[in-house]
Amino acid sequence: MAELDLPTIPHWIDGAPTASTSGRTAPVFNPATGVVAANVALADQAETDAAIASARRGFEEWSSWSIAKRQGVLFAFRELLNARKPELAAIITAEHGKVLSDAMGEILRGQEVVELATGFPHLIKGAYSENASSGIDVYSLKQPLGVVGVISPFNFPAMVPLWFAPIAIAAGNAVVLKPSEKDPSAALWLAGLWKEAGLPDGAFTVLQGDKLAVDGLLNSPIVESISFVGSTPIAQYIYETAARNGKRVQALGGAKNHMLVLPDADLDLVADQAVNAGYGAAGERCMAISVVLAVEPVADELIAKITDRIARLTVGNGAQAGDAEPDMGPLITDQHRQKVAGYVDIAEADGATVVVDGRSLVVDGHEDGFFFGPTLIDGLPTTSRAYTEEIFGPVLSVVRVGSFEEGVALINSGEFGNGTAIFTNDGGAARRFQNEVQVGMIGINVPIPVPVAYHSFGGWKKSLFGDAKAYGVHGFDFFTREKAITARWLDPATHGGINLGFPQNT
Ligand code: NAD
Repeated sequence: MAELDLPTIPHWIDGAPTASTSGRTAPVFNPATGVVAANVALADQAETDAAIASARRGFEEWSSWSIAKRQGVLFAFRELLNARKPELAAIITAEHGKVLSDAMGEILRGQEVVELATGFPHLIKGAYSENASSGIDVYSLKQPLGVVGVISPFNFPAMVPLWFAPIAIAAGNAVVLKPSEKDPSAALWLAGLWKEAGLPDGAFTVLQGDKLAVDGLLNSPIVESISFVGSTPIAQYIYETAARNGKRVQALGGAKNHMLVLPDADLDLVADQAVNAGYGAAGERCMAISVVLAVEPVADELIAKITDRIARLTVGNGAQAGDAEPDMGPLITDQHRQKVAGYVDIAEADGATVVVDGRSLVVDGHEDGFFFGPTLIDGLPTTSRAYTEEIFGPVLSVVRVGSFEEGVALINSGEFGNGTAIFTNDGGAARRFQNEVQVGMIGINVPIPVPVAYHSFGGWKKSLFGDAKAYGVHGFDFFTREKAITARWLDPATHGGINLGFPQNT
Protein backbone atom coordinates (compact mmCIF):
# COMPACT_ATOMS: atom_id res chain seq x y z
CA MET A 1 0.00 0.00 0.00
CA ALA A 2 1.53 3.33 -1.08
CA GLU A 3 2.25 5.95 1.56
CA LEU A 4 0.19 8.98 0.62
CA ASP A 5 1.75 12.17 -0.79
CA LEU A 6 5.09 10.55 -1.51
CA PRO A 7 6.69 10.35 -4.94
CA THR A 8 6.57 7.00 -6.71
CA ILE A 9 9.89 6.03 -8.28
CA PRO A 10 9.15 5.05 -11.90
CA HIS A 11 10.53 2.63 -14.46
CA TRP A 12 12.77 3.80 -17.31
CA ILE A 13 11.29 2.50 -20.55
CA ASP A 14 11.77 3.79 -24.11
CA GLY A 15 14.40 6.23 -22.92
CA ALA A 16 12.25 8.07 -20.35
CA PRO A 17 10.89 7.77 -16.81
CA THR A 18 7.67 5.77 -17.09
CA ALA A 19 5.00 5.85 -14.40
CA SER A 20 3.70 2.51 -13.26
CA THR A 21 0.10 1.48 -13.69
CA SER A 22 0.38 -1.75 -11.72
CA GLY A 23 -1.03 -0.29 -8.51
CA ARG A 24 1.73 -2.14 -6.63
CA THR A 25 4.48 -0.30 -4.74
CA ALA A 26 7.04 -0.84 -1.96
CA PRO A 27 8.33 1.75 0.52
CA VAL A 28 11.85 3.13 0.12
CA PHE A 29 13.34 4.25 3.44
CA ASN A 30 16.02 6.70 4.38
CA PRO A 31 17.77 4.21 6.70
CA ALA A 32 19.45 6.97 8.72
CA THR A 33 16.11 8.46 9.77
CA GLY A 34 13.85 5.44 9.46
CA VAL A 35 11.43 7.56 7.45
CA VAL A 36 9.77 6.36 4.24
CA ALA A 37 11.14 8.78 1.63
CA ALA A 38 9.32 7.45 -1.45
CA ASN A 39 7.52 4.48 -2.88
CA VAL A 40 8.90 2.45 -5.73
CA ALA A 41 6.80 0.97 -8.49
CA LEU A 42 6.55 -2.81 -8.58
CA ALA A 43 6.00 -3.97 -12.13
CA ASP A 44 3.22 -6.29 -13.19
CA GLN A 45 3.48 -8.68 -16.11
CA ALA A 46 2.26 -6.12 -18.66
CA GLU A 47 4.91 -3.60 -17.60
CA THR A 48 7.57 -6.28 -17.63
CA ASP A 49 6.57 -7.27 -21.17
CA ALA A 50 6.58 -3.61 -22.25
CA ALA A 51 10.08 -3.07 -20.82
CA ILE A 52 11.43 -6.17 -22.56
CA ALA A 53 9.78 -5.22 -25.87
CA SER A 54 11.29 -1.75 -25.68
CA ALA A 55 14.72 -3.27 -24.97
CA ARG A 56 14.34 -5.51 -28.00
CA ARG A 57 13.67 -2.44 -30.18
CA GLY A 58 16.63 -0.73 -28.54
CA PHE A 59 18.79 -3.75 -29.39
CA GLU A 60 17.77 -3.68 -33.07
CA GLU A 61 18.91 -0.07 -33.29
CA TRP A 62 22.00 -0.18 -31.06
CA SER A 63 23.48 -3.38 -32.48
CA SER A 64 23.33 -1.84 -35.96
CA TRP A 65 25.66 1.02 -34.96
CA SER A 66 29.28 0.87 -36.01
CA ILE A 67 31.94 0.07 -33.45
CA ALA A 68 33.26 3.63 -33.78
CA LYS A 69 29.86 5.15 -32.94
CA ARG A 70 29.28 2.74 -30.06
CA GLN A 71 32.70 3.54 -28.66
CA GLY A 72 31.80 7.24 -28.74
CA VAL A 73 28.83 6.56 -26.47
CA LEU A 74 30.98 4.58 -24.04
CA PHE A 75 33.52 7.38 -23.81
CA ALA A 76 30.76 9.99 -23.32
CA PHE A 77 29.21 7.87 -20.55
CA ARG A 78 32.59 7.59 -18.83
CA GLU A 79 33.13 11.35 -18.95
CA LEU A 80 29.64 12.14 -17.65
CA LEU A 81 29.94 9.61 -14.83
CA ASN A 82 33.32 10.93 -13.82
CA ALA A 83 32.11 14.53 -13.80
CA ARG A 84 28.82 13.95 -12.01
CA LYS A 85 29.56 11.14 -9.57
CA PRO A 86 28.90 13.23 -6.44
CA GLU A 87 25.21 13.37 -7.46
CA LEU A 88 25.09 9.60 -7.66
CA ALA A 89 26.90 9.19 -4.34
CA ALA A 90 24.27 11.36 -2.62
CA ILE A 91 21.47 9.22 -4.11
CA ILE A 92 23.15 6.01 -2.94
CA THR A 93 23.69 7.32 0.59
CA ALA A 94 20.12 8.58 0.90
CA GLU A 95 18.60 5.17 0.10
CA HIS A 96 21.30 2.72 1.18
CA GLY A 97 22.73 4.54 4.20
CA LYS A 98 26.46 3.96 3.52
CA VAL A 99 28.67 6.97 4.15
CA LEU A 100 29.31 9.33 1.22
CA SER A 101 32.99 8.44 0.78
CA ASP A 102 32.04 4.76 0.61
CA ALA A 103 29.30 5.52 -1.95
CA MET A 104 31.96 7.33 -3.96
CA GLY A 105 34.22 4.28 -3.60
CA GLU A 106 31.60 1.97 -5.09
CA ILE A 107 31.09 4.35 -8.02
CA LEU A 108 34.83 4.45 -8.71
CA ARG A 109 35.00 0.65 -8.76
CA GLY A 110 32.07 0.67 -11.21
CA GLN A 111 33.73 3.35 -13.28
CA GLU A 112 36.75 1.06 -13.69
CA VAL A 113 34.51 -1.35 -15.60
CA VAL A 114 33.23 1.48 -17.80
CA GLU A 115 36.84 2.33 -18.58
CA LEU A 116 37.58 -1.29 -19.43
CA ALA A 117 34.48 -1.37 -21.65
CA THR A 118 35.66 1.64 -23.68
CA GLY A 119 38.37 -0.69 -25.05
CA PHE A 120 35.77 -3.22 -26.22
CA PRO A 121 36.73 -3.28 -29.93
CA HIS A 122 39.89 -5.16 -29.05
CA LEU A 123 37.97 -7.66 -26.92
CA ILE A 124 35.20 -8.52 -29.38
CA LYS A 125 37.14 -8.58 -32.60
CA GLY A 126 37.27 -12.34 -33.11
CA ALA A 127 40.04 -14.14 -34.99
CA TYR A 128 41.04 -15.02 -38.54
CA SER A 129 43.02 -17.99 -39.87
CA GLU A 130 43.97 -17.56 -43.47
CA ASN A 131 44.34 -20.72 -45.58
CA ALA A 132 43.43 -22.98 -42.65
CA SER A 133 42.87 -25.69 -45.20
CA SER A 134 43.88 -25.36 -48.83
CA GLY A 135 41.97 -22.41 -50.22
CA ILE A 136 39.83 -22.18 -47.10
CA ASP A 137 39.83 -19.38 -44.53
CA VAL A 138 38.34 -19.77 -41.04
CA TYR A 139 37.27 -16.85 -38.90
CA SER A 140 35.16 -16.14 -35.86
CA LEU A 141 32.75 -13.34 -35.05
CA LYS A 142 31.65 -12.29 -31.57
CA GLN A 143 28.08 -11.08 -31.78
CA PRO A 144 25.82 -9.66 -29.06
CA LEU A 145 23.20 -11.89 -27.44
CA GLY A 146 20.28 -9.47 -27.74
CA VAL A 147 18.28 -8.43 -24.66
CA VAL A 148 20.13 -9.29 -21.44
CA GLY A 149 18.69 -9.12 -17.92
CA VAL A 150 20.62 -7.78 -14.93
CA ILE A 151 19.15 -8.25 -11.43
CA SER A 152 21.02 -6.44 -8.67
CA PRO A 153 21.12 -6.44 -4.85
CA PHE A 154 20.60 -3.54 -2.46
CA ASN A 155 24.16 -3.30 -1.19
CA PHE A 156 25.83 -1.91 -4.33
CA PRO A 157 23.08 -0.07 -6.20
CA ALA A 158 25.54 1.50 -8.68
CA MET A 159 28.60 -0.75 -8.73
CA VAL A 160 26.85 -4.06 -9.40
CA PRO A 161 24.83 -2.70 -12.38
CA LEU A 162 28.14 -1.24 -13.61
CA TRP A 163 29.82 -4.64 -13.34
CA PHE A 164 27.61 -5.83 -16.20
CA ALA A 165 25.89 -3.03 -18.15
CA PRO A 166 28.94 -1.28 -19.71
CA ILE A 167 30.34 -4.54 -21.09
CA ALA A 168 26.94 -5.82 -22.24
CA ILE A 169 26.17 -2.51 -23.94
CA ALA A 170 29.63 -2.15 -25.47
CA ALA A 171 29.23 -5.59 -27.03
CA GLY A 172 25.99 -4.43 -28.67
CA ASN A 173 23.35 -5.82 -26.30
CA ALA A 174 20.36 -4.05 -24.73
CA VAL A 175 20.11 -4.27 -20.92
CA VAL A 176 17.01 -4.59 -18.78
CA LEU A 177 18.12 -3.79 -15.23
CA LYS A 178 15.91 -4.88 -12.32
CA PRO A 179 17.45 -3.07 -9.34
CA SER A 180 16.77 -3.83 -5.70
CA GLU A 181 13.44 -2.37 -4.62
CA LYS A 182 15.19 -1.13 -1.44
CA ASP A 183 17.36 1.47 -3.25
CA PRO A 184 16.03 1.84 -6.79
CA SER A 185 17.01 5.45 -7.65
CA ALA A 186 20.67 4.90 -8.60
CA ALA A 187 19.52 2.75 -11.53
CA LEU A 188 17.29 5.53 -12.83
CA TRP A 189 20.11 8.04 -12.54
CA LEU A 190 22.37 5.74 -14.56
CA ALA A 191 19.62 5.39 -17.18
CA GLY A 192 19.47 9.17 -17.56
CA LEU A 193 23.24 9.26 -17.98
CA TRP A 194 23.20 6.60 -20.72
CA LYS A 195 20.60 8.65 -22.56
CA GLU A 196 22.70 11.79 -22.23
CA ALA A 197 25.71 9.86 -23.51
CA GLY A 198 23.78 9.10 -26.69
CA LEU A 199 22.61 5.52 -26.17
CA PRO A 200 19.45 4.86 -28.21
CA ASP A 201 16.17 4.50 -26.32
CA GLY A 202 15.48 1.01 -24.99
CA ALA A 203 19.12 -0.11 -24.98
CA PHE A 204 19.24 0.56 -21.22
CA THR A 205 15.91 -0.06 -19.55
CA VAL A 206 15.09 -0.07 -15.84
CA LEU A 207 12.30 -2.30 -14.64
CA GLN A 208 11.40 -1.62 -11.00
CA GLY A 209 9.93 -4.53 -9.15
CA ASP A 210 10.08 -7.62 -7.03
CA LYS A 211 9.78 -11.36 -7.69
CA LEU A 212 7.07 -10.78 -10.29
CA ALA A 213 9.39 -8.67 -12.47
CA VAL A 214 12.26 -11.12 -11.92
CA ASP A 215 10.11 -14.07 -12.94
CA GLY A 216 8.95 -12.10 -15.97
CA LEU A 217 12.59 -11.75 -17.07
CA LEU A 218 13.36 -15.40 -16.31
CA ASN A 219 10.38 -16.63 -18.33
CA SER A 220 10.59 -14.24 -21.29
CA PRO A 221 11.68 -15.89 -24.54
CA ILE A 222 13.13 -12.52 -25.61
CA VAL A 223 15.61 -12.28 -22.71
CA GLU A 224 18.75 -14.16 -23.73
CA SER A 225 20.76 -14.08 -20.52
CA ILE A 226 20.54 -13.28 -16.82
CA SER A 227 23.26 -11.75 -14.67
CA PHE A 228 22.20 -11.90 -11.03
CA VAL A 229 23.83 -10.77 -7.79
CA GLY A 230 22.18 -11.34 -4.42
CA SER A 231 21.69 -13.91 -1.68
CA THR A 232 22.49 -17.58 -2.23
CA PRO A 233 18.95 -19.05 -2.10
CA ILE A 234 17.72 -16.56 -4.73
CA ALA A 235 20.91 -17.00 -6.81
CA GLN A 236 20.28 -20.74 -6.91
CA TYR A 237 16.63 -20.21 -7.89
CA ILE A 238 17.68 -17.77 -10.64
CA TYR A 239 20.34 -20.14 -11.95
CA GLU A 240 18.06 -23.16 -12.07
CA THR A 241 15.07 -21.32 -13.57
CA ALA A 242 17.05 -19.38 -16.17
CA ALA A 243 19.03 -22.48 -17.19
CA ARG A 244 15.81 -24.52 -17.49
CA ASN A 245 14.49 -21.79 -19.77
CA GLY A 246 17.55 -22.10 -22.01
CA LYS A 247 19.22 -18.86 -20.99
CA ARG A 248 22.86 -18.12 -20.38
CA VAL A 249 23.15 -17.35 -16.66
CA GLN A 250 25.64 -16.15 -14.09
CA ALA A 251 24.25 -15.89 -10.53
CA LEU A 252 26.50 -14.55 -7.78
CA GLY A 253 25.39 -15.42 -4.25
CA GLY A 254 26.21 -14.79 -0.60
CA ALA A 255 29.43 -15.11 1.34
CA LYS A 256 31.11 -15.79 4.66
CA ASN A 257 34.63 -14.47 4.35
CA HIS A 258 37.48 -15.44 6.66
CA MET A 259 40.73 -13.68 7.42
CA LEU A 260 43.49 -16.09 8.50
CA VAL A 261 46.05 -14.42 10.77
CA LEU A 262 49.38 -16.20 11.26
CA PRO A 263 51.39 -15.48 14.43
CA ASP A 264 54.14 -13.72 12.44
CA ALA A 265 51.76 -11.08 11.07
CA ASP A 266 51.93 -7.42 12.03
CA LEU A 267 49.00 -7.31 14.47
CA ASP A 268 48.47 -3.54 14.18
CA LEU A 269 48.09 -3.89 10.42
CA VAL A 270 45.78 -6.87 10.95
CA ALA A 271 43.63 -5.01 13.49
CA ASP A 272 43.28 -2.01 11.17
CA GLN A 273 42.34 -4.19 8.22
CA ALA A 274 39.95 -6.39 10.21
CA VAL A 275 38.10 -3.28 11.37
CA ASN A 276 38.01 -1.81 7.85
CA ALA A 277 36.83 -5.03 6.25
CA GLY A 278 34.46 -6.05 9.04
CA TYR A 279 32.68 -2.78 9.70
CA GLY A 280 33.00 -0.80 6.44
CA ALA A 281 29.56 -0.25 4.87
CA ALA A 282 28.20 -1.64 8.16
CA GLY A 283 29.28 -5.10 7.03
CA GLU A 284 26.83 -5.05 4.12
CA ARG A 285 29.43 -6.15 1.57
CA CYS A 286 29.70 -9.57 -0.02
CA MET A 287 33.48 -9.23 0.45
CA ALA A 288 33.24 -8.09 4.10
CA ILE A 289 35.34 -10.05 6.57
CA SER A 290 33.03 -11.88 8.95
CA VAL A 291 35.45 -14.21 10.75
CA VAL A 292 39.02 -13.65 11.92
CA LEU A 293 40.80 -16.98 12.32
CA ALA A 294 43.60 -16.21 14.77
CA VAL A 295 46.37 -18.79 14.87
CA GLU A 296 47.35 -18.90 18.54
CA PRO A 297 48.90 -17.38 20.56
CA VAL A 298 47.81 -14.06 18.96
CA ALA A 299 44.03 -14.02 19.63
CA ASP A 300 44.01 -12.14 22.96
CA GLU A 301 46.35 -9.43 21.72
CA LEU A 302 44.42 -9.07 18.46
CA ILE A 303 41.08 -8.82 20.26
CA ALA A 304 42.49 -6.06 22.47
CA LYS A 305 43.73 -4.14 19.44
CA ILE A 306 40.42 -4.50 17.56
CA THR A 307 38.44 -3.49 20.67
CA ASP A 308 40.60 -0.41 21.02
CA ARG A 309 39.92 0.59 17.42
CA ILE A 310 36.16 -0.03 17.67
CA ALA A 311 35.99 2.44 20.57
CA ARG A 312 37.15 5.15 18.16
CA LEU A 313 34.62 4.38 15.39
CA THR A 314 31.78 6.81 14.82
CA VAL A 315 28.32 5.70 13.69
CA GLY A 316 25.80 8.15 12.24
CA ASN A 317 24.02 9.58 9.24
CA GLY A 318 26.17 8.76 6.21
CA ALA A 319 24.96 11.90 4.42
CA GLN A 320 27.05 14.11 6.73
CA ALA A 321 29.91 15.25 4.53
CA GLY A 322 33.53 16.21 5.11
CA ASP A 323 34.87 16.15 8.67
CA ALA A 324 31.39 15.34 10.01
CA GLU A 325 31.24 12.10 8.03
CA PRO A 326 30.92 9.12 10.38
CA ASP A 327 32.81 5.86 9.87
CA MET A 328 29.66 3.80 9.57
CA GLY A 329 26.07 4.41 8.55
CA PRO A 330 22.91 2.41 9.34
CA LEU A 331 21.72 -0.96 8.06
CA ILE A 332 19.30 -1.06 5.16
CA THR A 333 16.03 -1.80 7.02
CA ASP A 334 14.75 -2.37 10.52
CA GLN A 335 13.95 -5.95 9.53
CA HIS A 336 17.57 -6.51 8.55
CA ARG A 337 18.75 -4.92 11.80
CA GLN A 338 16.63 -7.42 13.73
CA LYS A 339 18.06 -10.29 11.69
CA VAL A 340 21.64 -9.18 12.44
CA ALA A 341 20.79 -8.80 16.15
CA GLY A 342 19.28 -12.29 16.03
CA TYR A 343 22.65 -13.74 14.96
CA VAL A 344 24.39 -12.07 17.90
CA ASP A 345 21.71 -13.58 20.18
CA ILE A 346 22.40 -16.99 18.63
CA ALA A 347 26.16 -16.61 19.13
CA GLU A 348 25.62 -15.76 22.79
CA ALA A 349 23.20 -18.64 23.32
CA ASP A 350 25.77 -20.97 21.74
CA GLY A 351 28.39 -19.95 24.31
CA ALA A 352 30.29 -17.13 22.61
CA THR A 353 31.37 -13.96 24.40
CA VAL A 354 30.11 -10.66 23.02
CA VAL A 355 33.17 -8.47 23.60
CA VAL A 356 31.69 -5.34 22.01
CA ASP A 357 27.90 -5.25 21.70
CA GLY A 358 26.29 -3.01 19.07
CA ARG A 359 22.73 -4.28 19.50
CA SER A 360 21.39 -1.38 21.53
CA LEU A 361 23.19 1.49 19.83
CA VAL A 362 21.08 4.65 19.45
CA VAL A 363 22.37 7.61 17.44
CA ASP A 364 21.48 11.00 18.93
CA GLY A 365 19.04 12.87 16.71
CA HIS A 366 18.45 9.73 14.63
CA GLU A 367 16.58 7.62 17.16
CA ASP A 368 14.45 5.95 14.46
CA GLY A 369 17.39 5.16 12.13
CA PHE A 370 18.33 1.52 11.51
CA PHE A 371 21.67 1.71 13.30
CA PHE A 372 23.65 -1.22 14.64
CA GLY A 373 26.97 -0.66 16.36
CA PRO A 374 30.18 -2.51 15.54
CA THR A 375 30.09 -5.84 17.34
CA LEU A 376 32.96 -8.16 18.25
CA ILE A 377 32.48 -11.78 19.25
CA ASP A 378 35.04 -14.11 20.81
CA GLY A 379 34.94 -17.88 21.18
CA LEU A 380 32.26 -18.49 18.56
CA PRO A 381 31.69 -22.25 18.20
CA THR A 382 32.04 -23.27 14.56
CA THR A 383 28.83 -25.26 14.90
CA SER A 384 26.83 -22.10 15.64
CA ARG A 385 24.57 -20.69 12.91
CA ALA A 386 26.26 -17.37 13.66
CA TYR A 387 29.44 -18.99 12.31
CA THR A 388 28.06 -21.00 9.38
CA GLU A 389 25.54 -18.48 7.97
CA GLU A 390 26.01 -15.08 6.35
CA ILE A 391 25.17 -12.26 8.80
CA PHE A 392 25.65 -9.24 6.49
CA GLY A 393 26.07 -6.74 9.31
CA PRO A 394 28.85 -5.14 11.39
CA VAL A 395 29.60 -8.29 13.36
CA LEU A 396 33.13 -9.63 13.46
CA SER A 397 33.86 -12.96 15.14
CA VAL A 398 37.25 -14.17 16.28
CA VAL A 399 37.77 -17.92 16.14
CA ARG A 400 40.94 -19.29 17.71
CA VAL A 401 42.79 -22.02 15.80
CA GLY A 402 45.93 -23.98 16.60
CA SER A 403 47.56 -24.00 13.16
CA PHE A 404 47.56 -22.83 9.54
CA GLU A 405 46.15 -26.23 8.55
CA GLU A 406 43.24 -25.97 10.99
CA GLY A 407 42.41 -22.51 9.63
CA VAL A 408 42.45 -23.59 5.99
CA ALA A 409 40.34 -26.65 6.80
CA LEU A 410 37.73 -24.42 8.46
CA ILE A 411 37.60 -22.05 5.49
CA ASN A 412 37.23 -24.98 3.11
CA SER A 413 34.48 -26.61 5.17
CA GLY A 414 32.04 -23.73 4.60
CA GLU A 415 29.36 -23.65 1.92
CA PHE A 416 30.54 -20.30 0.50
CA GLY A 417 33.73 -19.48 -1.38
CA ASN A 418 33.60 -15.80 -2.24
CA GLY A 419 36.61 -14.06 -0.68
CA THR A 420 39.28 -14.75 1.92
CA ALA A 421 42.54 -13.22 3.11
CA ILE A 422 45.74 -14.32 4.81
CA PHE A 423 47.86 -11.99 6.91
CA THR A 424 51.45 -13.08 7.29
CA ASN A 425 55.03 -12.16 6.47
CA ASP A 426 55.74 -15.73 5.38
CA GLY A 427 55.66 -15.91 1.58
CA GLY A 428 55.72 -19.70 1.57
CA ALA A 429 52.65 -19.88 3.79
CA ALA A 430 50.83 -17.35 1.62
CA ARG A 431 51.66 -19.35 -1.48
CA ARG A 432 50.37 -22.55 0.12
CA PHE A 433 47.24 -20.68 1.16
CA GLN A 434 46.48 -19.50 -2.37
CA ASN A 435 46.87 -23.04 -3.66
CA GLU A 436 44.89 -24.89 -1.02
CA VAL A 437 42.00 -22.59 -0.20
CA GLN A 438 38.72 -23.29 -2.02
CA VAL A 439 37.75 -19.67 -2.58
CA GLY A 440 37.42 -17.55 -5.73
CA MET A 441 39.11 -14.31 -4.59
CA ILE A 442 42.11 -14.28 -2.27
CA GLY A 443 43.90 -11.45 -0.52
CA ILE A 444 47.49 -11.67 0.69
CA ASN A 445 47.75 -8.94 3.33
CA VAL A 446 44.78 -7.38 1.47
CA PRO A 447 41.48 -7.73 3.32
CA ILE A 448 38.91 -7.06 0.54
CA PRO A 449 40.47 -8.51 -2.61
CA VAL A 450 37.97 -7.24 -5.20
CA PRO A 451 39.79 -7.80 -8.50
CA VAL A 452 40.47 -4.87 -10.83
CA ALA A 453 38.18 -4.54 -13.85
CA TYR A 454 40.45 -6.43 -16.28
CA HIS A 455 40.44 -9.50 -14.03
CA SER A 456 37.06 -11.05 -13.23
CA PHE A 457 34.97 -11.06 -10.04
CA GLY A 458 33.35 -14.17 -8.67
CA GLY A 459 33.46 -16.79 -5.97
CA TRP A 460 33.39 -20.57 -5.77
CA LYS A 461 30.84 -22.98 -4.36
CA LYS A 462 27.54 -21.38 -3.30
CA SER A 463 28.91 -17.90 -3.97
CA LEU A 464 28.58 -18.29 -7.76
CA PHE A 465 26.24 -20.44 -9.83
CA GLY A 466 27.24 -20.67 -13.49
CA ASP A 467 30.49 -20.66 -15.39
CA ALA A 468 31.17 -16.99 -16.00
CA LYS A 469 32.36 -14.50 -13.42
CA ALA A 470 31.49 -10.80 -13.61
CA TYR A 471 33.44 -8.33 -15.78
CA GLY A 472 36.97 -8.77 -17.21
CA VAL A 473 37.41 -11.27 -20.03
CA HIS A 474 34.63 -13.41 -18.54
CA GLY A 475 32.27 -10.47 -19.00
CA PHE A 476 33.03 -10.12 -22.71
CA ASP A 477 32.68 -13.86 -23.22
CA PHE A 478 29.37 -13.91 -21.35
CA PHE A 479 27.82 -11.07 -23.34
CA THR A 480 28.90 -12.28 -26.78
CA ARG A 481 28.09 -15.35 -28.83
CA GLU A 482 30.68 -16.68 -31.19
CA LYS A 483 30.20 -17.79 -34.76
CA ALA A 484 32.93 -19.68 -36.61
CA ILE A 485 32.90 -19.28 -40.36
CA THR A 486 34.65 -21.56 -42.81
CA ALA A 487 34.87 -19.89 -46.22
CA ARG A 488 36.06 -20.91 -49.64
CA TRP A 489 35.90 -18.65 -52.64
CA LEU A 490 35.69 -21.06 -55.47
CA ASP A 491 38.24 -20.84 -58.18
CA PRO A 492 36.73 -22.48 -61.25
CA ALA A 493 40.13 -23.97 -62.10
CA THR A 494 40.41 -25.92 -58.83
CA HIS A 495 36.79 -26.80 -58.21
CA GLY A 496 36.86 -30.11 -56.36
CA GLY A 497 33.68 -31.70 -57.76
CA ILE A 498 31.40 -34.02 -55.77
CA ASN A 499 32.79 -35.72 -52.61
CA LEU A 500 30.44 -37.07 -49.91
CA GLY A 501 33.24 -37.76 -47.38
CA PHE A 502 33.65 -35.82 -44.11
CA PRO A 503 35.57 -32.55 -44.74
CA GLN A 504 39.33 -33.18 -44.40
CA ASN A 505 42.13 -30.74 -43.83
CA THR A 506 44.27 -30.62 -46.91
P1 NAD B 1 18.41 -10.60 -2.37
O1 NAD B 1 18.75 -11.98 -2.83
O2 NAD B 1 17.35 -10.46 -1.34
O3 NAD B 1 17.91 -9.70 -3.61
C1 NAD B 1 18.66 -9.60 -4.79
C2 NAD B 1 17.72 -9.32 -5.96
O4 NAD B 1 16.82 -10.42 -6.10
C3 NAD B 1 16.87 -8.07 -5.76
O5 NAD B 1 16.78 -7.38 -6.98
C4 NAD B 1 15.52 -8.63 -5.33
O6 NAD B 1 14.44 -7.82 -5.74
C5 NAD B 1 15.47 -9.98 -6.03
N1 NAD B 1 14.70 -10.98 -5.27
C6 NAD B 1 14.56 -11.06 -3.92
N2 NAD B 1 13.78 -12.12 -3.60
C7 NAD B 1 13.43 -12.71 -4.76
C8 NAD B 1 12.65 -13.87 -5.09
N3 NAD B 1 12.07 -14.62 -4.14
N4 NAD B 1 12.51 -14.20 -6.38
C9 NAD B 1 13.09 -13.46 -7.36
N5 NAD B 1 13.84 -12.36 -7.10
C10 NAD B 1 14.03 -11.99 -5.83
O7 NAD B 1 19.77 -9.92 -1.91
P2 NAD B 1 19.95 -8.51 -1.19
O8 NAD B 1 19.49 -8.63 0.21
O9 NAD B 1 19.42 -7.43 -2.03
O10 NAD B 1 21.54 -8.39 -1.23
C11 NAD B 1 22.39 -8.94 -0.25
C12 NAD B 1 22.92 -10.29 -0.67
O11 NAD B 1 23.62 -10.17 -1.91
C13 NAD B 1 23.93 -10.85 0.31
O12 NAD B 1 23.69 -12.23 0.44
C14 NAD B 1 25.27 -10.61 -0.36
O13 NAD B 1 26.31 -11.49 0.01
C15 NAD B 1 24.90 -10.79 -1.79
N6 NAD B 1 25.86 -10.15 -2.67
C16 NAD B 1 26.72 -10.94 -3.33
C17 NAD B 1 27.67 -10.38 -4.14
C18 NAD B 1 28.63 -11.24 -4.89
O14 NAD B 1 29.34 -10.70 -5.73
N7 NAD B 1 28.72 -12.53 -4.67
C19 NAD B 1 27.74 -8.98 -4.28
C20 NAD B 1 26.83 -8.19 -3.60
C21 NAD B 1 25.88 -8.80 -2.78
